[in-house]
Amino acid sequence: MILTPYQQNDPLDQAVLTIDLAALIANYHWLDKQAGKAETGCVVKANAYGLGVGEIAETLLEAGCQTFFVAQAKEGKTLREVTKTATIYILNGLPIGSAAWLAKHELRPCLNAPAELAEWAAFCEAEKQAYPAALHIDTGFNRLGFSEAELAALAEIDSHFTPSLIMSHLACADMSDHPMNATQLARFQNAIKHFPNSKASLANSAGILLGDAYHFDMVRAGIGLYGSMPYSDEKQGQRGQQKQKAQHEQKGQQEQQGQHARAQLQPVITLQAPILQIRTVKAGETVGYGAGFTAEKNMRIAILAIGYGDGYMRQISETRPPFAQAAYNGTQLPIIGRISMDLLAVNISALPEAQAQRGTLLELIGAQIPLDETAQQAGTISYEILTRLGTRARRVYKA
Ligand SMILES: *Cc1c(COP(=O)(O)O)cnc(C)c1O
Repeated sequence: MILTPYQQNDPLDQAVLTIDLAALIANYHWLDKQAGKAETGCVVKANAYGLGVGEIAETLLEAGCQTFFVAQAKEGKTLREVTKTATIYILNGLPIGSAAWLAKHELRPCLNAPAELAEWAAFCEAEKQAYPAALHIDTGFNRLGFSEAELAALAEIDSHFTPSLIMSHLACADMSDHPMNATQLARFQNAIKHFPNSKASLANSAGILLGDAYHFDMVRAGIGLYGSMPYSDEKQGQRGQQKQKAQHEQKGQQEQQGQHARAQLQPVITLQAPILQIRTVKAGETVGYGAGFTAEKNMRIAILAIGYGDGYMRQISETRPPFAQAAYNGTQLPIIGRISMDLLAVNISALPEAQAQRGTLLELIGAQIPLDETAQQAGTISYEILTRLGTRARRVYKA
């Protein structure tokens, strides 16, 4: 993505989060292709991983998505205002006493426990209508879902209940050779025998890449749509995504690495922040809170209008260079000193003076600095970085 000159933006903007909708669509189609015959449902919980559920869902609808998953009931209602027709599942299940409210908004709970099913069934009976709902089976994650015993009991008591979807969630899909995957698969295959007329769904983004056996009728793609596919089982070296991109450009070469097909996803977000001022720091002087950085020689530094209050996590500055970096036109620029709430400092000595001025936008995440690498620097995962960004930054959607 080409850097947008600050002058073309609203000068009142501080950080700018650009969301490449064409890349989102390309990622959707790529994941959908990997999922074979299975329908590709899209997970847009937490405001579409922080990227704005309205724009993201509208784009995915146009790309062909018909089924969405959100975490919370209220997220479902927000999404219902975007689409009257798409199927919407609530992953966190049925909030107490909310069956009528969900039905009114045509939201389908993922019934996670016998108490939720009992409440939903009582509502359906009172209304004399079988409102659709999913049944979530726990196959070893031990988070939400019916246990094996609860499922067996259910099959005995209520053989009439036909969930619109029977689902489970993989704990270790990002580790392709983890034995948990096969264990969960086997348990899921057993569980769905009780419900021959229900659609079945097991795989998240990483699960899609575990192969056909994991696809069933529907996959639930989240993070992959947003351009990240972290594997715990293969240490992506520096600039891992750029290597992926290079591979992507060598068309059609779908290399197998381990059991995972290598993800060919495009970066979706670019995070930029403007330079507020440029100053010269003399050798021996320090920069920032705790005098955390000492200049070894004279340098030019830029103070950027972004900090942890924008979701650009403070831990990033606790890792030593060459990790934390900003970039401009292909030049990598180290972040120096501690990231503060609203500001951070970048050593821009490597840039010609004419290039970096007050108002110039520097990249913090994007084509030059992969999201997954930033997450690694912050000691977290891309999911957490994404959900923290986008509250204070202006979100700009690029068609
Ligand atoms: C969040 C979530 C997903 C999507 O996972 P990704 O790793 O983002 O693809 C799928 N299923 C469930 C139950 C989830 O909670």
